[in-house]
Formats: sequence, C-alpha cells, structure tokens
Amino acid sequence: MEYTLLGNTQIKVSRICFGTLTAGPMQANLPLEQGAALMAEAVERGINFFDTAQLYDTYPYLRRAMELAGRRDLVISTKTYAYSRELAREALEQARRELNRDVIDVFMLHEQESIHTLRGHRDALEYLLEQKQRGVIRAVGASMHRVAAVEGALQMGLDVIHPLINQAGLGIMDGTRADMEQAIQRAHSRGVGIFSMKPLGGGNLFRSAQDCLQYAFSLPGVDSVALGMQSVGELKANLEFYETGAFSPQAKAELEGKVRRLHIDDWCEGCGICVERCGQKALSLQNGQAVCDDSRCILCGYCSSTCPAWAIKVV
Ligand code: SF4
Ligand code: SF4
Repeated sequence: MEYTLLGNTQIKVSRICFGTLTAGPMQANLPLEQGAALMAEAVERGINFFDTAQLYDTYPYLRRAMELAGRRDLVISTKTYAYSRELAREALEQARRELNRDVIDVFMLHEQESIHTLRGHRDALEYLLEQKQRGVIRAVGASMHRVAAVEGALQMGLDVIHPLINQAGLGIMDGTRADMEQAIQRAHSRGVGIFSMKPLGGGNLFRSAQDCLQYAFSLPGVDSVALGMQSVGELKANLEFYETGAFSPQAKAELEGKVRRLHIDDWCEGCGICVERCGQKALSLQNGQAVCDDSRCILCGYCSSTCPAWAIKVV
C-alpha cells in the first residue's frame, strides 16, 4: 500500500480509504464482530484511513477493529449534519466517546451544497475550528456531491474535502465530471486534502469496476479514494487491483458473483422520475416512495442517474 499526505494537513493516509457506510447498519448491516474483523483485516493489509459519519452508526465497528488490530494510530474521518454549536459539540463528543479517542483526525460537515449551506452551518463550523485550535480535531472539512460545494469549501478555507466523482460523472448534482475535475484541481493547488467518494457511482458502475477504479486512482489531485467494502473477498480484490492495476480472474469472479440488488434510500422524495425512466417496469410508487420489484430489475442503473435526490444505489 502507498501512503500520501492529505493536502497540507500533515496527516498521512493510505491511498485506499475504507468507506464504512456499506458494511454498517444502513446497508449490509454486518454483525459487529464480522464488520470489525473485516476492518481489522484491512488494517493488517495496510489500509490506515477510514471514513465514517455520525449518520452511519459505524463507530462501534471501528472501535472494535482498533482493539482487534491492536492499533490506535488509524486515521479516522467522520462527518455530521450539525448546524449549531451545540449539535456540533454533541457530534464531536459522540465520536470521541464511541471511538474511544481523544482526538478525531478529520471532522467534516456532511453533504454540503454550496457556500450558502456552508454559511448556514457557520456556527457548527466555528465550533469545529475552535476544537482544531485546541488540538481535539486535526483537520476540518466538508463532504459534497456538488461542484459548488467544493468552491464554497475553498472560500471558507477548509482543510479537507470529500467530493463525489467517478468516471461516468454519476451523482454529481450540479455539473459534469469535467466541472468536478477542475474544482478538485483548484482545491489541490491550494493545498486542500482530497479524498474522493463513490468511484463506482454507488454500485451502479460495478460492471466497469476496473475502468472506474483506474480512473479514480489516477485522477490528479486526489490523495485517497474511499471504497465501500462488505467482505474480505472485496477487500482482497480492491487491494490486488491497487497493487497490479487489474482484477485477477478470481477477484473478478468475486465481484461479479456478489448478489446485488437495488436499494432505495429512505430520503426518496416520491417524485416518480425513476418510475418513468425504468424500461423494465421494475419501479413503482408506494406510500409516497419508490419501490423496486427485484424480479424485474436488471440492475442497469439507468434510474439512478435520473434521481434528483441521489437515493438509488446498487448494493
Ligand atoms: S436498475 Fe434498471 S431495471 Fe432496475 S429499476 Fe433501475 S432502471 Fe429499472
Ligand atoms: S427519482 Fe429518486 S426521489 Fe424520485 S421517486 Fe425515484 S428514488 Fe424517489
């Protein structure tokens, strides 16, 4: 595994960041010991960087993984939707308590949209920056699916960004892949630490996983790439890809043999756009939310690119 500094933060991270969302209660919901063992195995194989969030409920996995691996020196990045000082304080204290850590390496505002939403979270941001001054947080940042939020983070002088980018530009809410690439370049040239998310477009691009990962790891300015993993087989496949630039036949079989299904997040707004888009008639609206009939769905991913709420994933 190779390591790099996260922008100007002096935080040294592995080029692969383990994204914990997909193993946790919101997706695979692995039992605690199984999820923690997977993360501990990632540590043993060289990954030192983990992405989590107050929302994901994966702090217990990471705490147990650190115990299993006998390591306290992992780099943990988390994020919160807090907008006030009090909510930010609660989020930080929850992370410190549940991770059993005095210091959180990277603390971010979750899913920012623009300079306007960042300003709307100013009280929370000021609190986090004060805690950075006190040494309780090492770097402050924001995660985003929008180009405008990268620009906003630059205006606010944040240390780290966690932008969505992938080869198809899937999920970028306000621009093209090229727009996001340029914004990432601007951030990188200012010394901002950058770790990207959703290289496979929330699972929708799994059929072209090799091309997508080649794109993600070769994108200029990106220090680390967050990959969601749910099994040791996936972990080994990703590490092997990183070392060799290709998936072995066994790794390909592991990835392609995985049982996948369409997942619709509970923040679906019931607009019905995806229902119109699906040529297989696999989607319908029930009680104000989209529902997928797995027996009809061919996992083509066309619906996800139309969803204004980025609520459709392949898991
Ligand atoms: S992935 Fe394709 S087949 Fe499945 S619901 Fe979406 S559009 Fe329909
Ligand atoms: S397009 Fe997205 S928000 Fe609209 S109904 Fe489908 S899943 Fe829900």
